[in-house]
Amino acid sequence: MLENDKMYEALGISKEVCAYGRYILEGLKERFLQIDEIAEYNQMKVIKAMQEAKVSEACLLGTTGYGYNDLGRDTLESVYANIFHTQDALVRPQITCGTHALAVALSSCLRPGDELLSPVGKPYDTLEEVIGIRPAKGSLAEYGVTYRQVDLLEDGSFDYEQIKKAVNDRTKMVTIQRSKGYQTRPTLSVEKIGELIAFLKSIKPDLICMVDNCYGEFVEKTEPAEAGADMVVGSLIKNPGGGLAPTGGYIAGKKGCIENAACRLTSPGLAKEVGASLGILPSFYQGLFLAPTVTAGALKGAVFAANLYEPLGFAVIPGAKEERHDIIQAITFGVPEGVAAFCKGIQAAAPVDSFVTPEPWDMPGYDSKVIMAAGAFVSGSSIELSADGPMKPPYAVYFQGGLTWCHAKFGIMKSLQQLLDDRVISYAQLPYTTIS
Ligand SMILES: *Cc1c(COP(=O)(O)O)cnc(C)c1O
Repeated sequence: MLENDKMYEALGISKEVCAYGRYILEGLKERFLQIDEIAEYNQMKVIKAMQEAKVSEACLLGTTGYGYNDLGRDTLESVYANIFHTQDALVRPQITCGTHALAVALSSCLRPGDELLSPVGKPYDTLEEVIGIRPAKGSLAEYGVTYRQVDLLEDGSFDYEQIKKAVNDRTKMVTIQRSKGYQTRPTLSVEKIGELIAFLKSIKPDLICMVDNCYGEFVEKTEPAEAGADMVVGSLIKNPGGGLAPTGGYIAGKKGCIENAACRLTSPGLAKEVGASLGILPSFYQGLFLAPTVTAGALKGAVFAANLYEPLGFAVIPGAKEERHDIIQAITFGVPEGVAAFCKGIQAAAPVDSFVTPEPWDMPGYDSKVIMAAGAFVSGSSIELSADGPMKPPYAVYFQGGLTWCHAKFGIMKSLQQLLDDRVISYAQLPYTTIS
């Protein structure tokens, strides 16, 4: 233990922070065992799917050109379909990010005159332009697809009465975001998503229910299609890429939905048949193989951060004791110096670019400066330890990731050390630390 403290000290972390961290961890043993148990289940699920699909050495090779008969690509898609309990899947490097995957899924199933419903409030920022809530070129609105939204009730539950009123003749598709994203609403459990889908389908059985699964993969033992979702969508530089996938996205779902999505992604008539995998498949397979334990590490980091910061008087979402359904942790500092120090600490703990200091900057799509910490092997990867915060009240940071629990722990302790070094908090405020 002391040897580890010496190593931490060599990396700029004080004895006091080490002692406080150790104290907090003592109380988390039970939580961590639960997280490990889920990871174990999901690891077996992934291995089982790979074995059943007969993943072979030949699957790790790639194709070029049109990518006809790409064994590795087609096998990987059947592995995803197995894991996500769907009939089919599209897992491609040509899907550039989560937003693109969601845009493909939505636009592939909606036609002019159709309506899209979000029964869980405002969707993720980037989807506002996909849908046309904020005007944008090529939005669904431009193609004559209308949009309706029902907000969650004050306590975060579904507004069933308004949802029932919102479903009409033209409602074709429903988008349900599992993660809170950068909002303060609760993240939805798979069980809750199931209740919502059951209700929606009782009103209109042929609704296509799509779940934005970003940050939720492998956090629970089940995935949304098991709760009735027709399409499940996410990014490979988040949980399911396991930190190794350098790009890509996935759409898993009903056969007809995936056919629609493939026709939209490539071309009508070509669908899933084209799309060279080049040399990317080893990282997709191996990343997926690692994803359950990588997600567990990130989850432990989120739980540790909540439990470390809550006793210091900072509001945390989810709360220290709260159950988790995604890997995002929000911490509210109330002052800009807190957000800046936290991000500085996370950056200083990174394996890449640890020597740079993050500065608040104007970002497209944001109405305030944003500070970001990311020292990632894969640019923009948020399954790697990363944090960002808009420089405006309530001065909260959103942090996520960590490819290993040890790195997540180090980063979080480093953030606390930075808050102490920058005098946002004082050593006297650290509870429970008795240094011998
Ligand atoms: C990250 C995220 C997206 C968008 O993904 P990008 O890869 O950043 O385009 C969409 N929805 C949610 C909930 C997300 O967390």
